[in-house]
Amino acid sequence: MHGAIVEDFIRCVREIYQTDELIPLHEPRFQGREKEYLIDAIDSTFVSSVGQYVDRFEADCARYTGAKYAVATVNGTAALHAALLLVGVKRDEEVITQALTFVATCNAIHYCGAEPVFVDVDRTTLGLSAQALEDYLGEFAEDRNGEAWNKQTGKRIAACLPMHTFGHPADMGRIVEVCGKYHIPVVEDAAEALGSTLNKQHCGTFGRVGVLSFNGNKIMTTGGGGMILTDDETLAKQAKHLTTTAKQPHSWQFIHDQVGFNYRMPNLNAALGVAQLECVPLFVTKKRELAARYIEWSQQNGFQCFIEPEAAYSNYWLNAVVLENLSERDAFLKATNEQGIMTRPIWEPMHRLPMYRHCRKGALVNTEWAAERIVNIPSSVI
Ligand SMILES: *Cc1c(COP(=O)(O)O)cnc(C)c1O
Repeated sequence: MHGAIVEDFIRCVREIYQTDELIPLHEPRFQGREKEYLIDAIDSTFVSSVGQYVDRFEADCARYTGAKYAVATVNGTAALHAALLLVGVKRDEEVITQALTFVATCNAIHYCGAEPVFVDVDRTTLGLSAQALEDYLGEFAEDRNGEAWNKQTGKRIAACLPMHTFGHPADMGRIVEVCGKYHIPVVEDAAEALGSTLNKQHCGTFGRVGVLSFNGNKIMTTGGGGMILTDDETLAKQAKHLTTTAKQPHSWQFIHDQVGFNYRMPNLNAALGVAQLECVPLFVTKKRELAARYIEWSQQNGFQCFIEPEAAYSNYWLNAVVLENLSERDAFLKATNEQGIMTRPIWEPMHRLPMYRHCRKGALVNTEWAAERIVNIPSSVI
């Protein structure tokens, strides 16, 4: 890679964002009715664990994603933790996921006392590879009374947790099909994928449960927040119960019937969420325009951008370039960051982190390939 190309890339980013200042990787946009709804929530005095904006935000999210039910939580990690518990993940069980993810995916598994098992991703999606999953299960899974057990470790394979990297849909049709054959429930980490669809179906609605995040760096934000999506009414009710300290509904009595969690989203955050969600269709359109500009520039300059997979309509939450190798990657990171263009490598894969190094894993060829080459570039809504 020629230094001049990087300089040209920097000019391209500065032209897009029209500034000589530092250009962050991703910053939120508040151009809708955020202040109006926040003031309304404050005036109502219901700012905390009770309030109408939570119900409204849940209904709006269900409508937008096409999920039958949506349960708001305090953040995406809490939503993942609750979702795994709700599909029955217990201590000393195994959950299959990808090593190429944000650490919260694995942490949620760990909070259940379960162990992540790492399977490779596809280069075309950066999400869990259905083929690698099928190969892994073919080698290690056996059926015991309609449940999948790992015949090598003697542990139950309790769930599969694919993640939609940078908002690009994973190969959900095949993942759900493979898991169905083994009776393994699918929980989708769609934290990055609000607004993304595969064959016109919204990410987070393919598995038994899906999870969204509204952290400050996501496509929309509630300050902090998450959402559990499901079509299963019983599971939705349990989700609400488990995330609201498992209190039995009663006007004055305080009776809790299991160890629950205080994972409920405060009304203030939901008020911000209602306003932000109104802007998401526009955000997605603008992000796709931004991606198109990066892709056009790349094609003219012999650069490679990561492009949405087939049959996908991606929110392009974070744009990414694919460099030739590790040293090109590092040169690119150094030049851009030194000149005030924030870029960063993809996450250090989970199987290399100290707390997950010992976990079981398949061959992670594509994971290693991506970890050495992929860099995120400024992606705030233009
Ligand atoms: C952001 C994110 C989460 C966690 O969401 P928080 O709301 O920050 O807890 C989980 N998984 C992935 C892949 C994410 O990007």
